[in-house]
Amino acid sequence: MQRAQTPASVREQVSTWRSAGQRIAVVPTMGNLHDGHLSLIRLAAQHAARVVCSIFVNPTQFGPSEDIASYPRTPEADEALLADQGIVDLLFVPTEDDIYPHGITGSVAINLPALAGELCGRSRPGHFHGVASVVLRLLNIVAPDVLVVGRKDYQQAVLLARMIRDLHLPTEIVVGDIVREADGLAMSSRNQYLTSAEREVAGTLHAVLDELAGQLRNGGGSIDKLAARARERLVGSGLKTDYIELRRAQELGAVTSKLPDEPLILLGAAWLGRARLIDNVPV
Ligand code: AMP
Repeated sequence: MQRAQTPASVREQVSTWRSAGQRIAVVPTMGNLHDGHLSLIRLAAQHAARVVCSIFVNPTQFGPSEDIASYPRTPEADEALLADQGIVDLLFVPTEDDIYPHGITGSVAINLPALAGELCGRSRPGHFHGVASVVLRLLNIVAPDVLVVGRKDYQQAVLLARMIRDLHLPTEIVVGDIVREADGLAMSSRNQYLTSAEREVAGTLHAVLDELAGQLRNGGGSIDKLAARARERLVGSGLKTDYIELRRAQELGAVTSKLPDEPLILLGAAWLGRARLIDNVPV
């Protein structure tokens, strides 16, 4: 596994592969790698001859009161883990200046459609603009054939797919399944914020979404009533609900009380202690 810090050195390496006719996939991460990230790297290798993994804790996607200072950073362990897996060809570990040469406040930002202000965007204003801004830069640096992202961040995947289409980027997006702990909790670097007591109840978010999705599949009542009961269960377990919403799976469009005959997705977010948990389940 090679390692690069600057965009120029990434371009140099990637151009060698491209001239040899090899397909290239990129897996963007913020590091503190877990099995969810590793599953994306394996998926990337199924779609391309060469896999680039980036590790960058992107400041523009954190709100002013969010956890950028305390976000778990484990660069040595991450690099050792990736080297041990033997799948990643190039590890890209840029600095803030490498990604934002004009600084964060002076940088060009990406504007996104209204969806960026809904669901997770309501409690994290500006978050998806920061995500799009960093991912577009990564795509411009690596120029990959394939971008691999996780379904855990479903809204992020939909917005990135939209950015790729709208901006005519020559990249295909591939979305990997959610990797979960034994109790259903979606793996996340932020799960480390949970105390052991909180960790015991953290699986409730997935359990509640799963149960609600099952009820909807079986035509078990109105979404509003079912969601209200689901919220009560979350509160009963000590989680503070941010949202539980049923949306159209394709573009996350709103669903009215008459459920359309197309794939739907149930998304939820809840705070538990210092952690904000998110999850989603197809209906
Ligand atoms: P992060 O490092 O949290 O920014 O995540 C980097 C990528 O890994 C994103 O595309 C996430 O959607 C994906 N990811 C995070 N957690 C999981 C998980 N539990 N299963 C699958 N993919 C994940």
